[in-house]
Amino acid sequence: MARPYNFSPGPATLPEPVLAQAAAAEMLDWHDATGRPSGMGVMEMSHRGREFGEIFARTEARLRELLAVPAEFKILFMQGGALAENAIVPLNLSQGGVTDHVITGAWSLRTHQEALRYSEARVVASNVAASSANHTTMPAPASRQLSDDASYVHVCSNETIHGVELHELPDLRSLGSDAPLVIDGSSHIASRAIVDWSRLGLAYAGAQKNIGPAGLTLAFVREDLLGRALRICPVAFNYAVVASHGSMYNTPPTYAIYIAGLVFEWIAAQGGVAAIEQRNIAKAALLYGAIDGSGGFYVDRVAPDCRSRMNVPFFLRDDALGAPFLEAATARGLLQLEGHKSVGGLRASLYNAMPLEGVQALVSCMREFAARHG
Ligand code: PMP
Repeated sequence: MARPYNFSPGPATLPEPVLAQAAAAEMLDWHDATGRPSGMGVMEMSHRGREFGEIFARTEARLRELLAVPAEFKILFMQGGALAENAIVPLNLSQGGVTDHVITGAWSLRTHQEALRYSEARVVASNVAASSANHTTMPAPASRQLSDDASYVHVCSNETIHGVELHELPDLRSLGSDAPLVIDGSSHIASRAIVDWSRLGLAYAGAQKNIGPAGLTLAFVREDLLGRALRICPVAFNYAVVASHGSMYNTPPTYAIYIAGLVFEWIAAQGGVAAIEQRNIAKAALLYGAIDGSGGFYVDRVAPDCRSRMNVPFFLRDDALGAPFLEAATARGLLQLEGHKSVGGLRASLYNAMPLEGVQALVSCMREFAARHG
């Protein structure tokens, strides 16, 4: 029987061939590229051994290739999740001075709150509205009052809870700032082909949406930003230390890295990130079209040009229909569609591993439900 479609915001659905290879073919005995058995599962390997070394090197090289990461960026495989990065970034980059923050939703708010512990963290733009329409737009770049002395400017490029996405990275130079741009890209990393690295100083992302299991955090750090950490920065979270040890200063999350590597191979087999992006565009258009075409039965509050392709929070005109909708969806094998508790309503996350067929099934469930209850 086919597996249900899983719309979880994360940890999230993974490509079925990845799960099959990891669980069925390699759980007990991983084979190297030549097909030679290792006699052990990946969870049982030393991170310093030849076998894991091969997995790690292949994973990093594939990621660099898929996202066209320039040589001047180090890719760090870390632990702690994106929330730990909220501390790790100011510990490494702020030097205790000013940091600028753009507030666009729940995650960037938390980034700012954490940065206040280590730096003079300022809010330079925000989409907090006086009305109930909070976090439904992206602040226009020109509205940002950047500080002259900021050690970096932080932006969350896709707000997972509120469903607003930056479709282009801001060009800080054109806004008169030399500060490095720092991006939390947790919930849309590897979903679009063009990352303008020339605008970035640092990007980080938890793995558990588009990359693999929870427990792995990726950080892409421009080399010239290494070596600025505060004395109080834990050594295992010091980017310069992690970089100089090839992400092996302490034990990295080996199994999560292995699964990420399989996901990268899967992305490459799909035609790379450009092909994945086209699918993501089609999936999002289908779902937003169904919401907009429902005559108000389903409601999306996000401004159309800021709508996320990855996370689609939406509402029923009649809130009381939420529970019956979720019941109907679950009965059809459409899982984890509850909205975030702070927002309510429904939310469908359409990460890379969600096939178009999953969104088609969701849309047909929505249409039937509206016909029955409209
Ligand atoms: N930032 C964003 C954009 C997120 O979506 C999340 C998790 N949903 C986080 C930060 C927090 O990540 P973690 O739980 O891995 O620390």
